[in-house]
Amino acid sequence: MNLKQEETKLRKKNLDISLSSLTEYINEYGCNEDHYLYELRKETKKLGDVSIMQIGATQGSLLKILCSIGNFKKCLEIGVFTGYSSICIAQAMKEDGEIIALDNNKEYTDIAMKYWKLAGVNKKIKLILGDANNSLNQLLETMNESFDFIFIDADKNNYIDYYEKSMMLLKRNALMAIDNTIWKGKILDDNDNSKSTTSIRKLNEYIKNDNRVEHCILTIYDGMTLCLKK
Ligand code: SAH
Ligand code: CA
Repeated sequence: MNLKQEETKLRKKNLDISLSSLTEYINEYGCNEDHYLYELRKETKKLGDVSIMQIGATQGSLLKILCSIGNFKKCLEIGVFTGYSSICIAQAMKEDGEIIALDNNKEYTDIAMKYWKLAGVNKKIKLILGDANNSLNQLLETMNESFDFIFIDADKNNYIDYYEKSMMLLKRNALMAIDNTIWKGKILDDNDNSKSTTSIRKLNEYIKNDNRVEHCILTIYDGMTLCLKK
């Protein structure tokens, strides 16, 4: 077999490894999910299809690692859902750490509050219930350049607004993470002009041209972009 044939064979072999079996492998070996997070994932599944909004377990571990090495004191989360990512962030913060958590859905955040308590992180998290853009405007009145870390994971249609407001709320040399920036690959589908896909595509272009940040798109779970504000 010549080199070219060998390469083709190898490439074919690689393609035979399906994405779902890789995902299964990563789910098994990618991290150790803590007890309450595991229980919360189980409870969230009972909500049905919406449960896919929850971040992945390995992604949760990545958030914990980032927040732990960053020694963050003040964090902001935009999009709480049932509280998985906020628990990861809170667990990595010291006792004096605080998260301001924004969401507009009481049904979901009631579950979040139950699990914040179970996981013993409720004292670190302050929930603001309401439209995230309004809550961000309120925060902007008093908290410019205050946050060490911001996680954006609410409705995709408002992503650019959330990004711009977060840039103002973020300290210099601080980190922002934006979830779902690969959007299951739909960003590549020219026929997909839905609001959410268009909005994520726009944000990815926007960040690429934004020299206020150093950024990278991580191909973890559904894609998560890290931006370091210079
Ligand atoms: N980070 C969460 C997942 C967030 S899912 C986790 O780790 O599980 C997205 C959340 O954004 C949902 O809970 C939804 O209620 C919330 N949301 C959607 N539109 C919103 C808006 N306009 N203002 C505030 N929250 C919003
Ligand atoms: Ca998400």
